[in-house]
Amino acid sequence: MIVRLYLRRSKNDEGKQQYSLDMQNAGCRDWLRASPFAACKVVQYVDDGEAGDQFLTRAGLRKLLAEAEPGDVIACRDQSRLGRDAIEVTLVIRDLVRDRGCRLYYYASGQEVQFANAVDQAVTFIQGTGHQMELEAIRSRVREALRMRARSGRVAGGRCYGYRLERVADGPGRSYTLAVIDEAQAEIVRRIFAWRCDGWGLKKITHELNTERVPAPRAGRRGTGSWSPSCIRAMLQNQRYRGVYVHGKIKKVRRAGVVSRVTAEPTEVITVDLPEWRIVDDETWSRAQEGFAVASQPRRASAPAAKYPLTGIARCATCRGSVGVANCRSQRRTVKAYTCIHHHTRGASVCPVTIYQPIEDVESALIAYVAEHVLTPDVIAEMAREIRAAIEAQLPRREADATELERELRDVKAEQKRLTKAVALADDVPELVTELRQRAARARALEVQIATIRRAPSELRALVDQAEATVRDRLGDVRAALLDRADLRAVFLRLFPDGIEFRPVRVGERQVWRLEGGAAVGRVALNESDAWFNLGEPPSPSAEGSASNRDDDDTANKIAGMNPAALNTKPSEQAWFKLDRDPNGI
Ligand SMILES: [Zn+2]
Repeated sequence: MIVRLYLRRSKNDEGKQQYSLDMQNAGCRDWLRASPFAACKVVQYVDDGEAGDQFLTRAGLRKLLAEAEPGDVIACRDQSRLGRDAIEVTLVIRDLVRDRGCRLYYYASGQEVQFANAVDQAVTFIQGTGHQMELEAIRSRVREALRMRARSGRVAGGRCYGYRLERVADGPGRSYTLAVIDEAQAEIVRRIFAWRCDGWGLKKITHELNTERVPAPRAGRRGTGSWSPSCIRAMLQNQRYRGVYVHGKIKKVRRAGVVSRVTAEPTEVITVDLPEWRIVDDETWSRAQEGFAVASQPRRASAPAAKYPLTGIARCATCRGSVGVANCRSQRRTVKAYTCIHHHTRGASVCPVTIYQPIEDVESALIAYVAEHVLTPDVIAEMAREIRAAIEAQLPRREADATELERELRDVKAEQKRLTKAVALADDVPELVTELRQRAARARALEVQIATIRRAPSELRALVDQAEATVRDRLGDVRAALLDRADLRAVFLRLFPDGIEFRPVRVGERQVWRLEGGAAVGRVALNESDAWFNLGEPPSPSAEGSASNRDDDDTANKIAGMNPAALNTKPSEQAWFKLDRDPNGI
């Protein structure tokens, strides 16, 4: 039996002494000394800075839930530490106390939690409702304070091109941040609006700024250091440049422990006139909006699916930006061509590569190369033999302890059950579904291993034969799909998980793309759900048996001798492409 102490402090608890981690730690230890469990082994779980309604992202709580076993003692300050969402916290306590038979204590009241009948459940739920109401009250106070600041014009509203942030003192010991106009940047803003009013398109403005090497706004970690059409569009539509501050257009909502950002109702949005922020006059601002009418329609929730076989796979070797498809004129007709998107949208000063090579040209050359040099019948046969040899080498090592594997399988299944319950309660939680899928894959792998250990040698030989045949079929199918050009994009995605680099080279008079990359033949050949994939894996060494600590992807890759990456037929040598066919123009 183990005593497990749980401590949690959130940002909303700041300034409340009783919720400091030191106080919680001392409280737990005092309670423990006076309890009959003083001599037991103690494990402590801490979540610092985690909100009480986050149930999926709290690492400490997740670990506690993964490790608590029947008969264990769990202690924390009070129920609000476990969580501030009435339904979720009730489920956690039901799982621990009723389903697993753990004993749960709150040291603040000295009480042991009961969960035997409907009344116990109601008490837990009502306490949880109280804690949830407190959290909601704190959040609305914080929101209200922000809105007050916005109304009184004392607002910074984050970093924005054209303004700099200044600290302003307000009475003794207090200060706040204000945004004030930065004249040099404001001049650029005025030029952008003027160009737009002269009828310039977003791309032309972008090219001009990049050509003049005007420093671009900082865009966080994703920033590329250059101007982009989307940045120009956002600036032209920003009301701040005409002295109007709009607060609260996007709000955070929490559903099933996950925070997402949604558009707020118009009534929730605060609009404040801040004439000291004005950079352009109303007439200029309104004229700049002409032509944006279509864009102000509700936008698509997510980016459209990639249309061309190599978009999202191809990268420009010169600027590391993506290579995509654009129209170009060739022999008096318009054709689709692969080109560097940075060059195309941001101008030659951002990426000087001017290649527009017809997509048909690029794709045919790539298909021909892969069919002749990478996925050839010889390579396929060799790969199938290699995989057969790898599996056979593993067979003598399969004297594994089945009971160990069975114990792990039981743990994984119990966790699967818990996760299924959580998924049923919460709709649309990708993290939960991913975890559940990982457990399912692990359970399948364990079942296969256990079955294998108890198999007759003749059966094993049949399995190895089957493996070789399957690998050969699978690679053959990919080759056939490639030659038929059936769903090329799917084939390329499987073959080139690390992408393809497009490098500009000169061939005679012309510049063309040379494609370079590694083809993951081994990864195409093997599948984690194959019956023979885990054949040689020794029993899991994790003595704690806690499935949540294991990185399942890693497990799949560690399998000795069966590492799919290791089975690649030297990708760096095998699959270097060079496209040197002449493009049809440009
Ligand atoms: Zn480029």
